[in-house]
Amino acid sequence: KNIPPTLRDVVSYGRATHGEKIFLVHEDERVSFEAFHRAVAAFAAELAKQGVVKGDRIALVMRNLPEWPVAFYAGLSLGAILTPLNAWWTGPELEYGLTDSGSKILIVDAERLQRVSEHLPNCPDLKKVYVSREDDEVAHPYISKIEDVIGDPNSWKDLPDAPLPTVPIGPDDDATIFYTSGTTGKPKGALATQRNINSNIGAAMAAAQRPFLRRGEMPPAPDPDAPQRSTLLSVPFFHATGCFAVLNPVLFGGAKICLMRRWEPEAAMQMIEREKVTQVGGVPTIAWQLLEHPARSKYDLSSIEAVAYGGAPSAPELVKRIKEAWPKSSAGNGWGMTETSATASSNSAEDYEAYPDSAGPAVPVTDLKIMTIEGDRELPIGEVGELWCKGPQVVKLYWNKPEATAQTFVDGWVKTGDLARLNEEGFLFIIDRAKDMLIRGGENIYCIEVENVLYDHPAVMDAAVVGIPHKTLGEEPGAVVTLKPGAEATEQELRAFVADRIAAFKVPIRIEFWHETLPRNANGKIMKNELKKVFTGE
Ligand code: ATP
Ligand code: MG
Repeated sequence: KNIPPTLRDVVSYGRATHGEKIFLVHEDERVSFEAFHRAVAAFAAELAKQGVVKGDRIALVMRNLPEWPVAFYAGLSLGAILTPLNAWWTGPELEYGLTDSGSKILIVDAERLQRVSEHLPNCPDLKKVYVSREDDEVAHPYISKIEDVIGDPNSWKDLPDAPLPTVPIGPDDDATIFYTSGTTGKPKGALATQRNINSNIGAAMAAAQRPFLRRGEMPPAPDPDAPQRSTLLSVPFFHATGCFAVLNPVLFGGAKICLMRRWEPEAAMQMIEREKVTQVGGVPTIAWQLLEHPARSKYDLSSIEAVAYGGAPSAPELVKRIKEAWPKSSAGNGWGMTETSATASSNSAEDYEAYPDSAGPAVPVTDLKIMTIEGDRELPIGEVGELWCKGPQVVKLYWNKPEATAQTFVDGWVKTGDLARLNEEGFLFIIDRAKDMLIRGGENIYCIEVENVLYDHPAVMDAAVVGIPHKTLGEEPGAVVTLKPGAEATEQELRAFVADRIAAFKVPIRIEFWHETLPRNANGKIMKNELKKVFTGE
């Protein structure tokens, strides 16, 4: 009952509760909760002038600039469906997002406008483009500069104090279309409601409890007198994690979000020192990059209280390493997917130390169950099968994809495509993606299990296990590995290390060394299709 029903209410709540505190930091720009509210109101008024009405789609293609959340909440305040597209997409991919969503308005930064401009004539629904950080003159009436409407972030505090729109919006109204990462195929647009997104506020409050809340328990309201926290955002706003698990709960809870031009570990450490960052959040890779960085001791990182991540598998070893580096901090691992509007389970602090290979119990008012792959029967505790999830965060449907919707969403449950098991206490153990398992002559091999053994080797920085096609066995495991700076290990040594720890049939028959960081998508997930080519010679 403490959670606002819509995202527009979160903007009002943030201003009423946190007012002049700083909400967004980007380079030398600092935006208070008050100034943010003013910018959202001003930009919403502009969108209303353009004829934006409830249900219209607005596409947002930008790196993590302060304008991103302004555009996001301004459109949402009018009841529009905000459709953030992946800012790393190419021109043709952006065209897919714009036409698939039927967006009427595009809000974009100058860099991306260049990338997408030749595709705009192919987007018949598009009526208007707003560009930020454009140095050149814009002569086209169809394109306007965001700065001409609301000014620079540092001047948002001087905008008039105007009210937010009053179009009726309720918790079950459509709010966003976020595209899945495309790890297993073409990205699908997941349509989330206001309630789906705001449920993460409760999940974040629950995760902050010590000891962790168990099923059915509700968290108390945050303490308004507690010192302000500071979050370093290392993941993009255009994925559910950055937007639903960080941005919106922070606007509610009153921390400060530090934005980076792009992720770079040393720049991150400078930011942590400068802004006294307390929470570091994102994907597991970023935690590793900070831990392994040779310049780490040059910076004062003692402000860190929590390192939390999710969205991709993490080695159990990581918890221990975080505790060693920052003894006062707690580590956290959450499981979720675009279809669950970010967080559906969360493991933190003592619980995570006790179960470092678990993504924790379900967040409040959420159910998890393990089903057979065929989906005909629930499996008993401890058995591995497909994870299904039901709760206030499960999205309504895939936009424009009735078949995929019917296959994935069944009676309020989402079939996740992840293989997992649950223990007696309800802790979730993600084994692998159903598609990231290989079968060697009838024996199942979970790639993650083999990867985790490789991570235990002191020289290994990063590891990915993939299937190598084999005539009679079907597939055999192969591994691609990067070593820590200055570390050495041979293929033979690594194979022997793995063979000492897991069954012989799981030991990679070949290990290739990769000399750059492994190819990952924006959400930190290794693009295994790329790596398979190492073995198939494609
Ligand atoms: P697509 O569905 O388009 O193939 P995707 O599944 O990578 O792409 P996302 O919705 O961004 O798209 O990612 C959700 C997936 O990420 C989950 O299904 C799961 O496989 C993985 N994942 C998320 N959190 C965790 C976690 N804590 N541990 C292990 N895996 C995780
Ligand atoms: Mg998926």
